[in-house]
Amino acid sequence: MYLRKPEWIRTKMQGGAATKKVNSMISDLSLNTVCDEASCPNRMECFERGTATFMILGRNCTRNCTFCNVTRQKPDEVSEIEPENVAKAVSKLNLKHAVITSVTRDDLEDQGANQFKRVVEEIRKTSPNVSIELLIPDMQGDKKLLDIIIDAEPNILNHNVETVPELYDKVRPMAIFDRSIEVLNYVKQAKPKIKTKSGVMLGLGETKDQVIEVLKRLREVDCDMLTLGQYLQPSTLHLPVVEYITPEQFDEYKEIAIDMGFKRVASAPLVRSSYYAEDL
Ligand code: SF4
Ligand code: SF4
Repeated sequence: MYLRKPEWIRTKMQGGAATKKVNSMISDLSLNTVCDEASCPNRMECFERGTATFMILGRNCTRNCTFCNVTRQKPDEVSEIEPENVAKAVSKLNLKHAVITSVTRDDLEDQGANQFKRVVEEIRKTSPNVSIELLIPDMQGDKKLLDIIIDAEPNILNHNVETVPELYDKVRPMAIFDRSIEVLNYVKQAKPKIKTKSGVMLGLGETKDQVIEVLKRLREVDCDMLTLGQYLQPSTLHLPVVEYITPEQFDEYKEIAIDMGFKRVASAPLVRSSYYAEDL
């Protein structure tokens, strides 16, 4: 059944000069953004503010999450020039906070860990004062690969659990909830100075008790920051929305999360992992 979007979900479309500038710079540097690939509802707003989330390691993913708009096809060649180009874009956009994510590269021996490291190194060379947030895949829980990434010392290491464990088979069939929790745990144990962050999409049929249980599991591994947002169906081929969570319910989750000890929480229908990440 198709649920009509409530009025609090509708986004304003803007398309000014700043948006054009961001789009053309990104295409000139042959970069991809998750903003476009995931059809993020906040694109126009973020681009107008001069922010974007770079998606490295190509546009095709080796996994098949049923909520995600990224294509599942043969993965792209890893670009040698990409780390330098991300650094150029960060500098040209004058960012204070850069968010870098990737598709999952189960096909590569290092699963893309060295590309994340190189991106951090290149940004530090050209923009030493920019804070860097890496939103990483689970790296199949491989600690040696996680070490490569965290040895580069990003300011924030984000890994989304995305949904409650009860819905993993339906939503993230190739991922494992406990493995994702362990990724966050390992990072915090190995590098306590790096802030850890995770996010959950709501409206996929999860119960309130299940959401609260996920928040508890995240706090057990000392996760510092949390984002909660509404799942939106990118196309009719993707998982349907089961429920539109009200803004009041998002507010309640925020209070619960803060009481549990999360240091920063963003919880609202249009919140995405990287929405106003610089302020989170
Ligand atoms: Fe891009 Fe994140 Fe903004 Fe969406 S919220 S447009 S993914 S920066
Ligand atoms: Fe999308 Fe990430 Fe899942 Fe790949 S692993 S399909 S990019 S959510």
